Amino acid sequence: MSDEHLKLLNVESAYGPIKAIRGVSLTVRQGEISTVLGSNGAGKTTILKTISGIIDPNKGNVVFESEDITAYDPTDIVRRGLVQVPEGREVFPLLSVHDNLVMGAYTRRDRDGVARDMEAVYGYFPILKERAQQEAGLLSGGQQQMLAISRAIMAKPSMILLDEPSLGLSPKLTKEIFEIVVRINRERGTTILLVEQNANMALNAADYGYVLENGRIVMEDTCERLRNKDDIKEFYLGMQ
Ligand code: ATP
Repeated sequence: MSDEHLKLLNVESAYGPIKAIRGVSLTVRQGEISTVLGSNGAGKTTILKTISGIIDPNKGNVVFESEDITAYDPTDIVRRGLVQVPEGREVFPLLSVHDNLVMGAYTRRDRDGVARDMEAVYGYFPILKERAQQEAGLLSGGQQQMLAISRAIMAKPSMILLDEPSLGLSPKLTKEIFEIVVRINRERGTTILLVEQNANMALNAADYGYVLENGRIVMEDTCERLRNKDDIKEFYLGMQ
């Protein structure tokens, strides 16, 4: 396998007449965290939905682990080890925390591995262990985000797509969640593609970044260099 874990080649996706992404090409390298930054409506969620097979693109290709997955359905894509954490978490509110995690592992048959990963996610987020038997719908927003990330890990993915993990969370909780995301990447070797409006957090956590405006990538570079670019500071980091 090349070190290109995921590649988008000139991808276009639309909702009826509305073109949401217009020829997006990007590469996520094996074992790295990449981020797509962009304001509200730029097309970030559409990129993730196109990768995970929820939306069929009108043009272009999605290549995962050297295989063209453009036409695959979402279940096939999850089975291949590419799992999305949706915006707004979408946990199963009436199921317990524990059962949400079990649902995340539905494609797996390695019971010992599932048990080990369950302990691992409880290690990352001890509050979930305390609340294991509680209905997920009763968790706070931050705890639901933790559960959504944990549920994705239970599928044993080689790559996770994370849609705006900071949405609606306090700065403190956002920081905590980003720290765990970086640990998951470093300790488990999971490749991560993160889309965010919170450029500050994303540029600190990620290795490589793309800037999306009106459905087009307008800039890309290492996050270290993006953090120091004047227009990024001005438009995305709120500095003059
Ligand atoms: P946000 O942070 O608000 O989710 P985003 O960058 O993720 O923004 P998208 O949700 O990908 O942006 O939306 C891109 C464009 O597609 C926007 O113009 C949006 O209004 C439009 N769009 C998104 N979902 C739909 C839909 N289901 N039907 C019609 N248009 C949509």
